[in-house]
Amino acid sequence: MTYCFTDCFCVSLAPLTVTKGSIRVENGLISEIGADVTPAADDEVISLEGGVVMTGLVVGHHHLYSALARGMPAPPRAPKNFTEILEKIWWVLDRCLDKKSVELSALVGLLSAVRCGATTVVDHHASPSCTTGSLDIMGDAFRKIGVRGVLCYETSDRAGREEAERGIAENKRFAEANQNSKLLRGTVGAHASFTLSDASLKEISEVCSRLDVGIHIHLLEGSADREISINEYGADPIKRLMDFGLLNEKSLLVHGVHMTPEEIDMVSKSGATLIHNGRSNMNNRVGRSPLGLLEKAGVRIALGTDGIDGDILTEARCAFFRGSEEPSPPSFGLSLDMLAQSQAIVARSFNQPIGKMEVGAPADFTILDYDPQTPMHENNLAGHLIFGGLGPEHVRSVMVNGDFILRDRKFVHIDTQTVYKQSRSAAKRLWADIEKTWNN
Ligand SMILES: [Zn+2]
Repeated sequence: MTYCFTDCFCVSLAPLTVTKGSIRVENGLISEIGADVTPAADDEVISLEGGVVMTGLVVGHHHLYSALARGMPAPPRAPKNFTEILEKIWWVLDRCLDKKSVELSALVGLLSAVRCGATTVVDHHASPSCTTGSLDIMGDAFRKIGVRGVLCYETSDRAGREEAERGIAENKRFAEANQNSKLLRGTVGAHASFTLSDASLKEISEVCSRLDVGIHIHLLEGSADREISINEYGADPIKRLMDFGLLNEKSLLVHGVHMTPEEIDMVSKSGATLIHNGRSNMNNRVGRSPLGLLEKAGVRIALGTDGIDGDILTEARCAFFRGSEEPSPPSFGLSLDMLAQSQAIVARSFNQPIGKMEVGAPADFTILDYDPQTPMHENNLAGHLIFGGLGPEHVRSVMVNGDFILRDRKFVHIDTQTVYKQSRSAAKRLWADIEKTWNN
């Protein structure tokens, strides 16, 4: 199938460009772009009447396994701090997941992300009662919808070495099996320094080197990460990553709320990507990430939702508003740059020019029916994003590898009513299991 989008704004985030014209798509790739493009005889011509074709949005860090938590009951006693939120909510929920609820969590989480314009989700998965094979179940959900994914399993020693070994093996198996997949890639997932033994970090490092992939790990999200790492393992989280050769340009470091200026400098020099998730930080009351300082230090900052939802445009808006409260606020354009850095994670993982509006790049597009009420160009695009223009409410279609997966707000490859009917039943069972654990 070949397409020609006409009368549209072509928006690229890196480099930041906004041009008016047409785009042709052939064999899953952008084949022509510009003001003088003529549709070929076999093209399906789609006039966007001034709408926007943007390089595909990426959720840079997600936990799809949390999707069935939406609306679930609260624990009998409210958690007092972040560690208790993990212990009483998320580590109870992930252990209650079975193969069916893993599948349905992935499906409904992805539907939500695609509806908000995502062409790729970078996921961090945990289901310790069914670790082995869980990433294949997740991968099948990505394939069913047609969305791109970079997946990993959350290795942790919190329930002992055996479970950590299973996690590492699952990462290795999945990354190896998907090295040439059209839609999927693997990284090596790890929970956070404070729940990882030296033995696990050593093995993770070996797998990363062997498969030439990076670690995807939470870093200094709460203050407990530093305190427990020093008490249990004799070093702070960043030093441990460096000691095991896990701080490099492939590393995905999530949060970094509690980094010192020296640590920010080390992350910047390493070329690692720090993934900001502002709404999750607020929800967990862990503090505010120093976005302004990170930006000044030249840290690559990408953007994730950390399982809150799949809405990366709202996350970008929120990052700007919350960052504005900092003593040293980030620049206006950082919101767009963070979206671009999330695309760059995917481009590196697939070794393809994903996120580029250029001939030969994969046709991963977020298409919005946004007809700007004021002039729009590259110098004010951030204003259109932050102040109500380029928002999830305008997402009309999503294309991945030249394949429409959402078209005119309808999913093309999947019957959503059936999925939601099943996910409501699965959520009921999951919540009952969680309440049983709380009451024991
Ligand atoms: Zn996370």
